[in-house]
Amino acid sequence: MTQQYKGSCHCGAVRFSYEGEELLKGVRCNCSICVRKGALMNTEPISPDNIIIEAEEGILGKYEFLTKTAKHYFCKRCGIYTFHQTRSQPGFYRVNIGCIEGVDPFALVADYFDGKNML
Ligand SMILES: [Zn+2]
Repeated sequence: MTQQYKGSCHCGAVRFSYEGEELLKGVRCNCSICVRKGALMNTEPISPDNIIIEAEEGILGKYEFLTKTAKHYFCKRCGIYTFHQTRSQPGFYRVNIGCIEGVDPFALVADYFDGKNML
């Protein structure tokens, strides 16, 4: 069964919503950027057709590195990582569960993804 989720950065300038499988667990990744963010992310990448992103003009920051396939987005005002487009499924999104309304990331089981060794 799918569910509607809404999220935002800390200051509210970046917002997103999507419909997806009920969040029963999340995933943490040990790649060079995720290990620094420390965020719990949703497990099933979200199709770009299925996520609505709203951001104030000029406020959505984008960071890329190495292959530049993944796109890491954050709020330029409050600095919070809200979502990124994945390297494994380009164009598809994972979101920061800590940004989602009504979901406690600390109450979810965290899977572990060995992104550091992903070639
Ligand atoms: Zn913000």
